[in-house]
Amino acid sequence: GLKGSGRGPLPPMLQQYVDMRDSVAENLPGSILLFQCGDFYETFGEDAERASRLLGLTLTHKTSKDFSTPMAGIPVRAAETHIERLLNLGVRVAVADQMEEPGAGLVDRKVTQLYTPGTVTDEKLIGQDENYLAAVATGEGYALALLDLSTGEFRCASFGTRTALYDELGRHRAREVLLAPELEGNAALLADFQARFPVMLSHASFDAQDAVGALRDTLGDVPASLSTPALVRACGAVLLYARGTQQGRLDMVRRVTRYEPGAQMHLADQTLRALEVFQASSPQGMTLLQALGSTRTAGGRRRLRAWLRAPLLDAASIEARVNAVDTFVRTPDLRAGVRALLYRAHDLERLAARVAARRATPREVAALARTLELLPQATELLAVQDGLLGGVRARLTALPEALNLIRAALTDDPPLRATDGGLIRDGFHAELDALRAESLGHRAWIAALETEERARTGIGSLKVGFNNVIGYYLEVTATHLPRVPGDYRQIATLKDRARFTRPDLREREREIARAEGAAARLELEVFTELRDALAAHVDALTDAAGALAELDVVSTLADLAAERHWTRPETNADTRVELEQARHPVVEHALGDAFVPNDAHLDATRRVLVLTGPNMAGKSTYLRTVALCALLHQIGSFVPAQRARLPIFDSIHTRIGASDDLAGGRSTFMVEMSELATILHAATARSLIVLDEIGRGTSSLDGQAIAQAALEHLHATGAFTLFATHYFELTRLDGELTGLVNLHVAAEEEERGGLTFYHQVIPGAAAQSYGVEVARLAGLPASVTARASGLLAALNATGDTDSLRRDLVTLDLTQLTPMDALKLLHAWQRRARGDEAPVNS
Ligand code: ADP
Repeated sequence: GLKGSGRGPLPPMLQQYVDMRDSVAENLPGSILLFQCGDFYETFGEDAERASRLLGLTLTHKTSKDFSTPMAGIPVRAAETHIERLLNLGVRVAVADQMEEPGAGLVDRKVTQLYTPGTVTDEKLIGQDENYLAAVATGEGYALALLDLSTGEFRCASFGTRTALYDELGRHRAREVLLAPELEGNAALLADFQARFPVMLSHASFDAQDAVGALRDTLGDVPASLSTPALVRACGAVLLYARGTQQGRLDMVRRVTRYEPGAQMHLADQTLRALEVFQASSPQGMTLLQALGSTRTAGGRRRLRAWLRAPLLDAASIEARVNAVDTFVRTPDLRAGVRALLYRAHDLERLAARVAARRATPREVAALARTLELLPQATELLAVQDGLLGGVRARLTALPEALNLIRAALTDDPPLRATDGGLIRDGFHAELDALRAESLGHRAWIAALETEERARTGIGSLKVGFNNVIGYYLEVTATHLPRVPGDYRQIATLKDRARFTRPDLREREREIARAEGAAARLELEVFTELRDALAAHVDALTDAAGALAELDVVSTLADLAAERHWTRPETNADTRVELEQARHPVVEHALGDAFVPNDAHLDATRRVLVLTGPNMAGKSTYLRTVALCALLHQIGSFVPAQRARLPIFDSIHTRIGASDDLAGGRSTFMVEMSELATILHAATARSLIVLDEIGRGTSSLDGQAIAQAALEHLHATGAFTLFATHYFELTRLDGELTGLVNLHVAAEEEERGGLTFYHQVIPGAAAQSYGVEVARLAGLPASVTARASGLLAALNATGDTDSLRRDLVTLDLTQLTPMDALKLLHAWQRRARGDEAPVNS
């Protein structure tokens, strides 16, 4: 029913609304129905209250004789912005349009569009980035299906653990997720899921039988790669759901790719965040993606993001990409030529999807032609047969036919809509040409009429004109009215002139309307045929689009490498890391030459690097530099260093900074510990672990204990670990753990108090923490910093006794030789006397 007040039956329009809304609610529960009433989309009842709250619309009432209900409307021409806002708020929208001009009775209306965050394809609503709808089902592990309707990209994979699944979902930023009933029904899991992802959960059918049906309808059959029931159900669910929003057709979805998550580097979502790959941690911050420069095409940008999401594990594939980048680095002219071409390319991937769905507008088809025209030039430039660029070239070649089709049929500058006319070229279609010639003949006759009639009547000011109300007319001013011939029939009288027509003029006018109407219908028909013919080339178009995207990415990476003097990395078969004069790609971007490069060496004898130094010295920057170089190497890029030899890491784990998870309701410390837990579980001898200031979120003793225990655990896994800490006690572990090495970032105390930072990473542990000095630099009042210095001295004194006592308590006597015991006593005595700072320096 409809929320409102009154007795008796609903007025017919509201009854139509209620029926429509009920049927929409079955497909899209919780959605808002926009119901066209002339120039407005109206909402009624509870929908109206919701819409007015969400969009700030004025709430009025629709009132008839015996019924009144809340009503809120948006102008039809502003609908897009409002729909976008609703989608961003996680509200799905159905649109019912009037199917006929309003007349006397009830206007016919139909639901013409369903908008959901994961299935919109309109560039105005989703921009140029990828937009994923995801579905998850369980079986042996978890099956994930990902569908981007704007490009037709459709992929699926199986995951062994929920963490791996979460990471993959997080990396793809799915905007809408469908969970199978077995998952949705699990309250704990659902809560966990919702705490992690700000995504919209939607209901969908995961029925195995329906899934098979949907796959057959869309792809012809169920591909053999969907080898588990869970994969079939997940893939079927996205198709079924998506189809419901696309008027039952999914022509843009042409294949499903099953990929192997194990073939990619394991990159936890938290690593991507910590390294600011796609999202900066502060609003002014720059991301790695931004620092990598600007791809020339939207497809290239999406591809670069895909590469960053899934770094490679296979040396040969890495080498293939690096070779391509290298080719462009070494041939600046080729690179410039390719970049200039790409600059003129349109979004071929999405155009192909529009063509497949038979939705492309005349302008889009023209854009497709302009892009296809570039391909022969691109293949000519890329005179290579092998490697990645050879593969790119091969995929760019095979499309002259599609281009010829368009060029023959479509005018160069077609109108926005296919119904506007004037889109098909002269000479393409005989019947259309004949209709056009006919209407042109009539128009020429009319054009000549003025001269003829002036001569015949002797009225020099006689005019032939046209307006929308009366059509063509002959106009004579009042003074000449007596000379108007008898065959003129007056059809309008103005103050100082009169307008006339003649039967033959009327006839011409009718003929023009007939010929032009027929021509417009024919043009639409011809355009539809063209679109159908192009649809036969969609697979080749999609391949070419992928090739262009790759070309864009490697040439973008090459541009950057050349401009900033990045180096070609070599892949080490063993696990050595050798970075000379490495820089942080983003900080370098901001600082330019002021950036101080640093070396990084890791191998079997240097597996754990403990980094100390004052705040702001550059510890985080150093850690991230190493991690980012490793990441860039494995996406196939050059790296910001003078020389780089890197191993293939199976994963990069980072835990940097304190991030609050207020929405999830977990404390900073809890977040930190759960992220640390994930890392400790996942670390292998082939992992790169980067930890910054672990243990900050709790008391200093707790924090230190946890940090040390974590460090010892990581040491045991054999992972390469970079560990920045302000717990100086940890620097003493170098005596106990082989392969643990201390580093610090150089800083110098100035005579007047204050610090100079050199940003240089050098061997050994830092002497002290300089925390108070940094506070002074930050502008704390002198009285406060002086007091802090005093307190610090006192604390250090007791701290020493504390740490001595702790060492005593934790000492394992069963492992101690008499000689060790004596050495220890000696060291402790010196510490207690203050002969030596508690840190070895
Ligand atoms: P920490 O982790 O030691 O507190 P950060 O790594 O956050 O220090 O660095 C603090 C600031 O110092 C950075 O924002 C950057 O501007 C600057 N910085 C860090 N490393 C370098 C470097 N190698 N060269 C130049 N400036 C640097």
